[in-house]
Amino acid sequence: MKERHPPAQGRLAIEFDDVAAAAERLDGHALRTPVLTHAALDARCGAQIFFKCENLQHGGAFKFRGAFNALSQLPVEQRRRGVVAFSSGNHAIAVALAAKRLAMPATIVMPTDAPEIKARLTAAQGAGIVTYDRFTEDREAIARRLAEEQGLALVPPFDHPAIMAGQGTAALELFEQAGELDLLLVCVGGGGLISGCATAAAGRSPGCRVVGVEPAAGDDVRQSLARGEIVSIEVPRTIADGAQTRAPGRLTFPVIRERVAAIETASDRALVETMRFFAESMKLVVEPTGCLAAAPLVTGAVDARGLRVGVIVSGGNVALPAYIEHLATTLLDSGG
Ligand SMILES: *Cc1c(COP(=O)(O)O)cnc(C)c1O
Repeated sequence: MKERHPPAQGRLAIEFDDVAAAAERLDGHALRTPVLTHAALDARCGAQIFFKCENLQHGGAFKFRGAFNALSQLPVEQRRRGVVAFSSGNHAIAVALAAKRLAMPATIVMPTDAPEIKARLTAAQGAGIVTYDRFTEDREAIARRLAEEQGLALVPPFDHPAIMAGQGTAALELFEQAGELDLLLVCVGGGGLISGCATAAAGRSPGCRVVGVEPAAGDDVRQSLARGEIVSIEVPRTIADGAQTRAPGRLTFPVIRERVAAIETASDRALVETMRFFAESMKLVVEPTGCLAAAPLVTGAVDARGLRVGVIVSGGNVALPAYIEHLATTLLDSGG
């Protein structure tokens, strides 16, 4: 997908108006997901915590927001030819779903060993699936070749202004539903979600500290902020499969540097504890990556006393056998 207005030197890829415009495009298409609270956790943290439940969004994650915002802006001729995306996860499901709603053909490039649930949900939306071998083939090259040969628009997972602005509507809605906040916790993979959410906060709740949460196994954004430039790491080994990114994006990083206050990390163990909290206490199925933002509150790693806190619960697509195994592990650990 071409950047029609590449940011000028020193300008950021998105501003508040882009998020507000995305919210108008999404009106009537994305779900206005519920905001839930939990009295016992509030008491334990001495805070007022608002969970924005994007695990209940179309496609089971916030990614529908960015995908629909991007696809709905394509010119008619491009809509007829269609789109291509490479992803083994929630971006694939979101692009397939948004394309179906806009009556556009979609092709998804996925590894042969993609998680079964995500491959199934993508295929169920009628998208064409092209598989490749993760160990011998380059998915980006395959997607680019398809884009060129068939005139398809390539939809990137996070590093595009329309994707970033679309994801930011999750936070914009949260401020409408819960009012202004002191702290907003957002998980970080490539940074599309947090750059959009931090931009929404800057416009709607300027006093709000936006804090990102990365897997402890791969803190590429924290390292990049410390170094003042994009740092690339090895693919992190973590159960948070939606945040196994090696580096923040060329467009997301400058926005994060400008609008995000700090980055925390969460271990896989903390993610499992948080998954169990959501299941047992809130009756919510949340995938490991979707637990990142809540983990510092659930484990007590962040001091939120006296604060009004927003948490983006980013997604809920987890294969049931793996989910049950994660929950059973904590039960054994805690002797329960
Ligand atoms: C993609 C994804 C993320 C990470 O989003 P970025 O925009 O890449 O930072 C977090 N949680 C879930 C559930 C996701 O699907």
